[in-house]
Amino acid sequence: MKVIDLRSDTVTQPSQELRRVMSEAVVGDDVYGEDPTINRLERQAAEMVGKEAALFAATGTQSNLMGLLAHCQRGDEYIVGQAAHTYRYEGGGAAVLGSIQPQPIEMEPDGTLKISTIKNVVKPDDFHFARTRLICLENTHNGMALPMDYLTEVKRCAESFGLALHCDGARIFNAAVKHQVAVKELAAPFDSISVCLSKGLGAPAGALLFGSELFIKEARKWRKMLGGGMRQAGILGAAGLFVLEHNVDRLADDHENRATLQRGLSLIDELTVETLQNQTNMVFVSIPKGADGHFQQHMKEQGVLVPEGTRLRLVTHLDINAADVQTVLSAFNNYFNT
Ligand SMILES: *Cc1c(COP(=O)(O)O)cnc(C)c1O
Repeated sequence: MKVIDLRSDTVTQPSQELRRVMSEAVVGDDVYGEDPTINRLERQAAEMVGKEAALFAATGTQSNLMGLLAHCQRGDEYIVGQAAHTYRYEGGGAAVLGSIQPQPIEMEPDGTLKISTIKNVVKPDDFHFARTRLICLENTHNGMALPMDYLTEVKRCAESFGLALHCDGARIFNAAVKHQVAVKELAAPFDSISVCLSKGLGAPAGALLFGSELFIKEARKWRKMLGGGMRQAGILGAAGLFVLEHNVDRLADDHENRATLQRGLSLIDELTVETLQNQTNMVFVSIPKGADGHFQQHMKEQGVLVPEGTRLRLVTHLDINAADVQTVLSAFNNYFNT
C-alpha cells in the first residue's frame, strides 16, 4: 500500500530519473571552486532569482544562518517574527554562533510584520542599545504567500532606517506560483534570500543563498566556518538543477490538491478548518480534543500519515496526487462516519 505522508513537503522520495541524473553528475572539489555542476547551479539559480551570486548550502537552516552572519556583526540586532523559522526553529543559531540579538515581534495573521511595529522596535543610535541591522521576513509563512504590495512597503521601511532585508524563502517558489509572478519579482526587494531545494521541489538535500557578489563572498567564509564546505557536492547540485527545471511549475498541482483537500474537510462537521490568506500547499485543521492518538492510528491503518496533536498541519507535495487526496478524504470520512 502506498503511504500518503501529509506531515511535510520534505518527505518526498527522489524519483528514478532524479537518482540517475545525480549518479551521472560531473563533479570536482567545490571547496576549490572546481565543481562544475555546483558552479552551474549557482550561476543558473542566481539568474533565475535575479541576484548577482548564489551559494549552495546543505540545508535551509545553514543558508539562513550564513545570511544572518554575513549581514550582522556581533552585538547587532535583527527584527524577526515571533513564529519565524529563523527565530524559533533554528536552535537560536544567530544568537549562539553570531552573537546577533533577535528582536522578535508578533506576526500578523497573513504572515507579515506590521510596519508600525517594526518602526517602534528599531533602536536609536545610542550605546545603550544593540545596533539594529536587519529585517528578516518569511515567504511563504505557514503556507501563506506574503501580499505583493507588502513587499514594497517593507522595502521602503527598511530603506528609511538604512536596514538590510533578508527573506527566508524556503518555499519562495510556492509564493511565486501562487501570485503567478517570476520568482525574481518576489526576491527583488530583498538584499538576500534563502531558498530550499528539498521542500516542495523534491531534491534530497540542499538550499541556496542569494545576494550581491560581495555578500556571497562573506557568506562563503561563514559557510566554511559552519562546516558547510563540501567537496564533490555536484551530486547534490545535479539534483538542484533538475528540480529547478522540472518541479517549479507543477507546484500549482500541490496548491490545487490542497484546495480540494480543504474543501472536502470543511464538509465534515467535527472538524475546524482554517481559512488563511494566499494559501499554497498547507491546510490547518483541528480534530476534536480526545480524538488525538486514536485518530492518527486510524489514519495510519488507512495508509495516511498526519502529524500528532489536535491542530494538524497537512501539506501537499510532489508525492501526493489528486487520487491520493480522495483516499485521504475517505479516511477522514470513515473516521467521522460521514
Ligand atoms: C524548512 C524551513 C527552513 C529550514 O530548512 P532546513 O532545510 O530544514 O534546514 C527555513 N525556513 C522555513 C520557513 C522552513 O520551512
